[in-house]
Amino acid sequence: MTTKDAGQDYGVRAGYRRITKQVESLRPPPNLSDYEAICRHFRWDAARALLDGLPGGAGLNIAHEAIDRHADGPRGDEVALRWLGRRGQRRSFTWAGLRDATNRVANALGALGVRPGERVFALLGRIPELHLAVLGALKAKCVVCPLFSAFGPEPILTRLTLGDARVLVTTEALYRRKVEGLRDSLPNLAHVILIGEDETGTAVKGTEDWHALVGAADPHYAIPPTDPEDPALLHFTSGTTGRPKGALHVHEAVVMHTLTGRYALDLHADDIFWCTADAGWVTGTSYGIIAPLANGVTTLVVEAEFDAETWYGVLERERVTVWYTAPTAIRMMMRLGSEALKGRNLSALRFMASVGEPLNPEAVVWSNETFGRPFHDNWWQTETGGIMIANFAAMDVKPGSMGRPVPGVEAAIVTREAGRLKVVREPGVSGELALKAGWPSMMRAYINEEERYRKCFADGWYLTGDLAMRDEEGYFWFVGRADDVIKSSGHLIGPFEVESALMEHPAVAEAGVIGKPDPTAGEIVKAFVSLKAGHVWSEELRRDLLGHARKRLGPAVAPREIDALPTLPRTRSGKIMRRLLKARELGLPEGDLSTLEDDAR
Ligand code: ATP
Ligand code: MG
Repeated sequence: MTTKDAGQDYGVRAGYRRITKQVESLRPPPNLSDYEAICRHFRWDAARALLDGLPGGAGLNIAHEAIDRHADGPRGDEVALRWLGRRGQRRSFTWAGLRDATNRVANALGALGVRPGERVFALLGRIPELHLAVLGALKAKCVVCPLFSAFGPEPILTRLTLGDARVLVTTEALYRRKVEGLRDSLPNLAHVILIGEDETGTAVKGTEDWHALVGAADPHYAIPPTDPEDPALLHFTSGTTGRPKGALHVHEAVVMHTLTGRYALDLHADDIFWCTADAGWVTGTSYGIIAPLANGVTTLVVEAEFDAETWYGVLERERVTVWYTAPTAIRMMMRLGSEALKGRNLSALRFMASVGEPLNPEAVVWSNETFGRPFHDNWWQTETGGIMIANFAAMDVKPGSMGRPVPGVEAAIVTREAGRLKVVREPGVSGELALKAGWPSMMRAYINEEERYRKCFADGWYLTGDLAMRDEEGYFWFVGRADDVIKSSGHLIGPFEVESALMEHPAVAEAGVIGKPDPTAGEIVKAFVSLKAGHVWSEELRRDLLGHARKRLGPAVAPREIDALPTLPRTRSGKIMRRLLKARELGLPEGDLSTLEDDAR
């Protein structure tokens, strides 16, 4: 099949009106007001100039950019981080407070004999000590790996072993439940630092107490010279398509975090920014910790899990101005309907963004109607370390599109023919999404998987494993993961498009689509849906849905089979696991389930 044919196969995208922006009326004026002009004149050394660098030209360290340069300036006493605990507790840290606390952490690690380059893992929920541990360890030039606190012992053991953990920072409760029994299998784990319920501390055999250790440490610390290429962060991928990979990032990544915070999230100095992601995933670190602080913006950390009432309350009371969340939460809000927002005053909220999965056009339209502004989808991966493609504040939104490349990022659609990479110049053609290698937050390795890492690159391009297409205005459209694309009777079908069409039906809350082997068609399209409250699965509803999909997508692309499930299997970061839907449908082995959400087991 030629690339042209492949392109024509996807693309039933009619029917959604673009959401136009009145740029002149946007307040404050967007940081990226003239996309073309900024792209044309963009230079990475100018982006680096947004940062300070270590005093005396001693290099670039993420923690200095995120904390010390603000702490030592006129804004040192302003609030940098505000935490809302699960039980209504509140804690605030000024920039100066964060500086002193992270200095103590860096000194405490030094006192334990922990050396630069050694790996410090954090198994913590969304509590401020996570920020302190991560940024303190970065000051000490350790490599930090945050883990999702809902992981069970097995995925924790695998990651601590693969990542060669030397230090683990966790809470007493998590330690007792998940780690204590693993200690014999972790001979290289020299130190476990426990955060107790309160400051009275803990005394668990074989561990150290955070409050005692950090409390006794000196609040002064000079970050050692740091090469921008020194490793800083280790992040495991979500495991959506298989066994998670450990992507290694360097201190220079902070250039990308800062730039994208400014351009893609439109952060301004007086913003209150809330990123809902858990730090176990790269979003929770790049944008939950680093990007807002590096941009000098107050960041809100909310411990509570998703619950529409709680979240809307947070947005209202805390006067959140910029909100970064994920499609899975947006779909849950849609499921509840706009009723839950009645009487809320969200007038402070001016920019909303989403990442992690394709954002269905229906969700963009819904948010525009419900919040008076759309969610701005953006695309990136653990491997890219920061946002690569985004819907920017000043740019029209085409519902269903991921937007345009961040200035400095060169994105293209490529195909591989006879082992050669071909860059597809004409618009409207689908292929693999590729990025010109060399942006600052690009992963520098998959740990212990040299060969796999090498295979991600060809002819100077990084190959993302996602399929997309670019339209004539330069907007990119997600088609599907290369692994998930369905080949049916000679057509290539992207699951996202089918799922989005199903979600337009009033009964459907979410949809996951797979290819099911078929002797005549090769594969047929099979859909799984979960229903909105008040709808019951029936033969009639199935027929209605099949009819809706056929009308919307045409018979070649519409699902042949539809089943309902109470919920769809998801990763802990909220991504629908199509490979698991497929394995279960076909009775095949379920593969790596370490990142699967509990209620889908
Ligand atoms: P694994 O690589 O282990 O299978 P994963 O790819 O889900 O897991 P992440 O790095 O957390 O791990 O997720 C990145 C992927 O998520 C992207 O490659 C893409 O498939 C999907 N994704 C992220 N944002 C978007 C978006 N805005 N639209 C469509 N897909 C997105
Ligand atoms: Mg991936």
